[in-house]
Amino acid sequence: MKILVIFGTRPEAIKLFPVVRALAGVPGLAVRTCVTAQHRGLLDQVLAIAGLVPDIDLDIMEPGQTLDRLTARLLVGIGDVLDAERPDRVIVQGDTATAMCGALAAYYRKIPVAHVEAGLRSGNIYHPWPEEVNRRIVAPIADLHFAPTETAAQALARENVREGVHVTGNTVIDALYWTRERIDADPTLAAGLDPIAARFAGKRIVLVTTHRRENFGDGMAAIARAIARIAAREDVAVLFPMHPNPNVVSVMDTILGDHANVARIKPLDYPHFIRALGLCHLALTDSGGVQEEAPALARPVLVMRDTTERPEGVAAGTAKLIGSDEDRIVSEVFTLLDDKATYAAMARAHNPFGDGHASERIARIVADGFGC
Ligand code: UDP
Repeated sequence: MKILVIFGTRPEAIKLFPVVRALAGVPGLAVRTCVTAQHRGLLDQVLAIAGLVPDIDLDIMEPGQTLDRLTARLLVGIGDVLDAERPDRVIVQGDTATAMCGALAAYYRKIPVAHVEAGLRSGNIYHPWPEEVNRRIVAPIADLHFAPTETAAQALARENVREGVHVTGNTVIDALYWTRERIDADPTLAAGLDPIAARFAGKRIVLVTTHRRENFGDGMAAIARAIARIAAREDVAVLFPMHPNPNVVSVMDTILGDHANVARIKPLDYPHFIRALGLCHLALTDSGGVQEEAPALARPVLVMRDTTERPEGVAAGTAKLIGSDEDRIVSEVFTLLDDKATYAAMARAHNPFGDGHASERIARIVADGFGC
């Protein structure tokens, strides 16, 4: 039986490489991978670390591409791949344009679709935009829904999606554990951070990532000003692997500029990012994946968004939604830096998102479906 796993961005690659590995270990299943390269550079970093060589590479990235052009190119490109490959099942992950178009192109050919990380919902179609609608479109198409948590399964049930729903945990925790083991065995995998660790020794590090469309413009400017105020403290340093999107880079260049306490660096490959999470005192982010990883490493996460489709971290007290208002960001970070009790309450290792075995469960369920 032939499975085609389709993905295009960094977070999809991180969350799917453990699934590809698990599927490859099942006798009777032939696993093929198709990357759309919706985010070329960031995707390739993960492929290299995971030792994954895609079977098909659509290389669809175009500078400044609009959502409709991207969607059209993905749909046609993936459709052609499906006609050539004729898989028995397609697997997509999450909420990207690649996931949505992969599911739709498979549906047009009546190929069954499995959705990894199904059931995440913010309830607001513009937050995150366009991801909330991308993932909602996949739900009625898929016949297998791998929900990371009970909350996600309940969200599917509210949309009358009840069959084929399996609560598996989030595969990001599998990726995190696998990578951490590799770093422990071979610290050179993340040794690129040695100079920064030495430079900021004795300071508490705030790890910042930001790239959400909802924060482009005023939100990004407010985040830049907040980072400058945080970095003005001598006991603090900011480590900021910057997303290459021009909406992020140009604002940071203009407003934040260079600062002795800020290391604004290129996006880190996955082992370096996991080490950065371990080095930091807290994470300040608008990313989805970081909300899942930081609690697993007992790092508080302040989420610069108004809504989250990952309420489990907030419910567990390890994540807090703070929006992107400058004063609010500064005061929430300072509270965590100065109030030991608040920090201790948030910095508990807690793993509402999985136990590191989600991919094995997914592979077993997919294999059972084929009687393998
Ligand atoms: N990440 C990484 N290098 C970085 C920043 C993030 O490898 O410099 C990883 C991070 O560990 C997480 C994922 O990228 O697993 C999150 O991706 P992103 O924030 O781009 O997307 P989102 O999770 O918001 O969809």
